[in-house]
Amino acid sequence: MEEIFLFSKLSAIQLLRYFLLSGGAYLFIFRLAPGFFKKFQIQNSEISKKQILHEIKHSFSTVIIFGLIFSFFMHPKIKPLTMLYKNINDYPVWWFFLSLPVVILINDTYFYWMHRTFHHPRFYKISHQTHHVSTNPTPLATYSFHPIEAFFEAAWIVPVVFFMPIHTTVLIVFSLISFLNNLKGHLGVDLMPQKIKRAFPYKWVNTATHHSHHHKYFNSNFGLYFLFWDKLMKTERRS
Ligand SMILES: [Zn+2]
Ligand SMILES: [Zn+2]
Repeated sequence: MEEIFLFSKLSAIQLLRYFLLSGGAYLFIFRLAPGFFKKFQIQNSEISKKQILHEIKHSFSTVIIFGLIFSFFMHPKIKPLTMLYKNINDYPVWWFFLSLPVVILINDTYFYWMHRTFHHPRFYKISHQTHHVSTNPTPLATYSFHPIEAFFEAAWIVPVVFFMPIHTTVLIVFSLISFLNNLKGHLGVDLMPQKIKRAFPYKWVNTATHHSHHHKYFNSNFGLYFLFWDKLMKTERRS
């Protein structure tokens, strides 16, 4: 019973966040003020109703899979075995602040290589093709993954919480940053001025245009937060 309550609570939070942020961004950019956002649009191909329904349907299944993974390590019997902590003084305070960028960098590296593996012809159809149905993605594609991809998108956090001390607040902040970064990649518009995008430090950041072009051209821009791996492995597509 306790397990079902925890799973329902964690899934409901994810679903609410998806509807408020992804749904809100879609309504605002594509329905309420498309005229205003036209000049920021990355691609101008037509977006079908079928694509929208596909994005929502698969985001639902992702919420369930993420809910299952999070409720596993947040379960009262499992959580004490992890290195998640609540009291900030359990570890040095500097670690509280450093752990957030460390988790982001682990996620960035994991995602790049997972993503490239999913693009291998052997795995593409069974894992990642679902996400690429949206060649011109909308904010509703933020969570639009095949269940296999959804599992691998979140599974990496399980060994991390077992081997690295992470304050629960850091985990919550990371989860929000990760979602917002993913949403940015699927906004359909790039609001960042060119001047900022070309300057340090933003020139090392994966932009909305980078990820939209990944959906359009398939063979470049595999990164998540940063461009380090794309630059190193020469997979960056200059826009
Ligand atoms: Zn891809
Ligand atoms: Zn995408």
